[in-house]
Amino acid sequence: MALVNENFLRLENDYLFSNITNKKNEYEKNNPDKKVINLGIGDVSLPLASKVIEAMNKATLEMSEKETFKGYGIVQGYSFLINRILDVEYKKRGVDLEEDEVFIASGTKGDLAGIADLLSIDNKVALMDPVYPAYRDVNIMMGRTNIVYLNATEENGFTPELPKEHVDIIYLCSPNNPTGTVLTRKQLEAWVKYAKENNAIILYDSVYEVFIEDESIPHSIYEIEGAKDVAIEFRSYSKLAGFTGVRCSFTVVPKSLKIFDSKGEQVELNSLYRRRQSTKFGAAPYITQRAAEAVYTEEGQKEIKENIKYYKENAKYIKNEFEKVGFTVYGGINSPYIWLKIPKGMNSWEFFEKLLNEAAVVGTPGVGFGKCGEGFFRLTAFSSKEDTKEAVDRIIKLFK
Ligand SMILES: *Cc1c(COP(=O)(O)O)cnc(C)c1O
Repeated sequence: MALVNENFLRLENDYLFSNITNKKNEYEKNNPDKKVINLGIGDVSLPLASKVIEAMNKATLEMSEKETFKGYGIVQGYSFLINRILDVEYKKRGVDLEEDEVFIASGTKGDLAGIADLLSIDNKVALMDPVYPAYRDVNIMMGRTNIVYLNATEENGFTPELPKEHVDIIYLCSPNNPTGTVLTRKQLEAWVKYAKENNAIILYDSVYEVFIEDESIPHSIYEIEGAKDVAIEFRSYSKLAGFTGVRCSFTVVPKSLKIFDSKGEQVELNSLYRRRQSTKFGAAPYITQRAAEAVYTEEGQKEIKENIKYYKENAKYIKNEFEKVGFTVYGGINSPYIWLKIPKGMNSWEFFEKLLNEAAVVGTPGVGFGKCGEGFFRLTAFSSKEDTKEAVDRIIKLFK
C-alpha cells in the first residue's frame, strides 16, 4: 500500500488566492460591463530588458553550434555570472565573498526549500506574522511542527522584537512582503547578535532589495559585521529584472557558517548544500544565466532601473492618494507593496468585498498572510501605470 507523506495533508488549503480568484470571477460573470483591475498580484508586468533578450538569443544560437553547445551545467552556476554578482551586488557594498559561496539556481522558492533540506526537523523556527506563505509551507511540508510566530504589528512598526524564548532558525524578509517595511541596520545588528548568542541561523530573503531607496538601509545582511557566520541570503532576478517567468536566483551560503550535529560537532553548510544541489537540482540553464549576466551590463542596469522606477511611481501614487483621503498607509517607499490600514468597522475580507463590488478593484486581505494581518490590506505596484491610477481613483471616490 503506497502511503502519502502526510506532512502535505497538514497544509492549509491555498485558501487566500483561490478565494480571491473565485470572488473576482463571480463578480466578472455578474458584471460583464465592468473592467476589474487587479492590484493584488505579486507578479511583474513589464517585459524583459532588451539587453536580456539579446543575451538569451545569443545563448540560444550558441546551443545550435557544435563548438559552442552546452550540456549539463556547473552545479554552483557559471563563473561569468557569479563574478558579476560578487562585484556588483557585494563588493560595491563592502562585502567580500568567494565564488564558491554563491549558488545560482532557478528561483528563490526552490532555494528556500533546498536550504530547509539541510536543517533538522527538530529545530525551532521563528516566522513573522504576517508572513510570506512559502516560508511556512516549506516547513510544514518537511514535517517541522516547532514553529513560533513573532507578531509584526502597527505598534512595533511591523518589526517584531527578538524572541523571548530560544529559537534555532529565523526567517527575515526585508523589504518585506506583505508589509512593505524594511529592517534598519540597527535592527539587523540585533538579529545577528541574537543568532550568535543562541547558535541560531538567519534565512534572509532580500529579493526586493533593489526597491530600497533610503540610503541608511542595508541591501545585504552581510553589510552587518559577523553576519557571514550566521546568515544565508536569498536573492532573485524575479522582481529585480522581471524574471518571474524566466527563473533565475542565487543563494549565498558563506563557508564560515557552521551549525551542529547531535554530538555538538560543527558542520559547514556550504559543502552540504553543494552536495544537495548536485543530487536534487542539477544547475540553472545556460541561457538563463547568460540572461542574468546581461542584467549587469551598463545598458542592462539602466533598463532594469527604469522598470523599478516605473513600479515605484505606482507605489508612490497609491500611497499619496490614499493618504490624501485620510488613510494610514505603510510600505510603498522602499518596496513595491502598500500595506493599507483598513478603516474602523470593517475587517480585511469585508474591505476586499467593498472594493470589488463598488470599485471593481482586487487587492489582498491582510489576514490571508496571518492573524496579525487582520485590519490591513495589501496593494501592489506591479500593474500598469494607467490601471494603477484608475484603480486608486475608483477606490478613493468611495471614501471621499
Ligand atoms: C516573489 C518572492 C520571491 C521570489 O520568488 P522566485 O521563486 O525567485 O520567483 C521570494 N521571496 C518573496 C518574499 C517574494 O515575494
